[in-house]
This record gives sequence, structure tokens and C-alpha cells, in this order.
Amino acid sequence: MNLKKEKQLDLDPRIQEDSEKLLEFVHMFCRGNHKDLSKTPFIFDYPKVPLKLEEGRELCDECAKLLKHAIVMRYLCPLDPKPSCRNCPEHCYKSEYRDAMDVVMKYVGPRLLFKR
Ligand SMILES: [Zn+2]
Repeated sequence: MNLKKEKQLDLDPRIQEDSEKLLEFVHMFCRGNHKDLSKTPFIFDYPKVPLKLEEGRELCDECAKLLKHAIVMRYLCPLDPKPSCRNCPEHCYKSEYRDAMDVVMKYVGPRLLFKR
């Protein structure tokens, strides 16, 4: 594990891939658990993070916030290769988001296995 000296401007394809997965996971979780909350189509709009994500997935406010945080943190992750967040010494997520993402992963994990 080496700390990158500088952030590259080009987007690492692994970040793009991970972000797409995050979108997928949070969307799945929100659809299954927040049926009664009002939702808006998700748009990722951080000019500093040059990601292209599918727009229009319906998410509630809470999940949209979590997803944005998760994607930005993934983008800013200084570790290369990135360890699994669970095993990472950095704990870059704010604790409220970390707990929320834990809940998402616990919900989504077994469902992904069934999908295959
Ligand atoms: Zn939600």
C-alpha cells in the first residue's frame, strides 16, 4: 500500500466501476427499505469528481446523501490499491455514513449472491 503523491486527473477506471456498484447497491437498498419515502432521481453533481454515472435512479434524500458521500470518499481514497473499507486503517467515512453503509451492505450482500 503506497500513498499516492498526487491525485491523478484522469479517472481511475476502478473508481468508475466502484461508483457504479455503489449506485447499484444504494439504489437496491432504498427501493427495498424506503418505499414510503419521497424520492428524487439521483444526479451526481460534483464538478471536481469527473465521474459519469447513470442518472435518474430514484433515491430518497437520505440515501442520495449517503451515496454522494460514498462516491466522493471512494474518489479521494489515497490508498492504492484500495483495501476493503472494512479492513482499512483510515476510516475516512464519517461515522454516521459508515454505519449507514454497513446497513446497506448487509442488506445488499446476500441479495447479490442470489442474483448470480
Ligand atoms: Zn432511501
